[in-house]
Amino acid sequence: MNLFFENIISRRDFLKKSVLLGLGGALLSKIVKFGHAQTIGLIKSHQALYYKKLPDKSIKCLLCPRACIVSNKKRGFCRVRENRDGEYYSLAHSNPCAVHIDPIEKKPLFHFLPGTTALSIATAGCNLTCKNCQNWDISQASPDQTANFELSPEQIVELAITYKTPTIAYTYTEPTIFYEYMLDTAKQAKKKGLLNIYHSNGYINQEPLSELTPYLDGANIDLKAMSDEFYKNITGGTLNPVLDTLKNLKKQGVWLEITNLVIPGKNDSEAMLKDLCSWIRQELGSDTPIHFSRFYPQYKLQNLAPTSIEVLKNAAVIARDFGLEYVYIGNVPGLPEENTYCPVCNTLIIKRKGYQITEINLNKGKCKSCNVEIPGKWQ
Ligand code: SF4
Repeated sequence: MNLFFENIISRRDFLKKSVLLGLGGALLSKIVKFGHAQTIGLIKSHQALYYKKLPDKSIKCLLCPRACIVSNKKRGFCRVRENRDGEYYSLAHSNPCAVHIDPIEKKPLFHFLPGTTALSIATAGCNLTCKNCQNWDISQASPDQTANFELSPEQIVELAITYKTPTIAYTYTEPTIFYEYMLDTAKQAKKKGLLNIYHSNGYINQEPLSELTPYLDGANIDLKAMSDEFYKNITGGTLNPVLDTLKNLKKQGVWLEITNLVIPGKNDSEAMLKDLCSWIRQELGSDTPIHFSRFYPQYKLQNLAPTSIEVLKNAAVIARDFGLEYVYIGNVPGLPEENTYCPVCNTLIIKRKGYQITEINLNKGKCKSCNVEIPGKWQ
């Protein structure tokens, strides 16, 4: 669902049309609805947070575990943080390349204001290189290459208020790389009584995360596999920082749900799924929702088949066997595993069809049948 900006065209379409018009390479604007322009290569420089100055005007970035050493006039791995004569700048502040209104279920967050919408934003760039990325055309790009809006934190908040979305979501690419924009927007949003959530790969250092969490109401974190080897081979990252993020979010009281994209032959073995479920149960608790999401061939993994429903259902059985109480299967509309059931009396609590809510049997956050509390943010 994209209630406004519906005439926004994708970067690929935009570039294709620009080339057809003989305009390729030029700085272009396309006026879209509501008076906001989208400009290819629009960069807004903003003083970066979390870095250390080194000799010879080099910089060590302290925002994420990649710990890039960035020479003068160069950018970090994520393409959006630039060293200019020993000063460090974010190039991903107030220039989102994606602005949409989504159902909160799309994040996915199933225990967070069900049936509501979130104003969802992203900039170009990412600190991982997942071979399965479904948004690779913006995540593996720099802001010079994407069509960007000029929208300050205050303007994002105004849009959320105008379009009556109770929540702002930082999503699509990795929000860590537009950290300063996310933090500034989240602070403004809080002042206006809005909520903030993010969908992240969890690849962030704990100090910047702890500065963000007071403004964060919910998070969906990808736990891609309980395997450092998987992280290195498929994502270009490492596992332990993600686990630290999950534990930190839980400790700080941010509502937390987990997504595990099940990729055939990569992370779908029973042993890997058991390790994952066991860790969640032990470190985060049985009431942490887990979404097993169906993989479809994408980006650099187009040679693989979509995940079979049988494997996904088996993953759900494993999770329940480990005591996890809220187990979902995503990207397969119509399965009973889209619904929320009471872990005590098995009453259907929330019935879903895709991103739509068709029934809610909650009374002030409690099961209507047995009155047990269902964890989440319901009001
Ligand atoms: S945020 Fe970007 S520049 Fe900083 S360490 Fe991570 S990848 Fe490198």
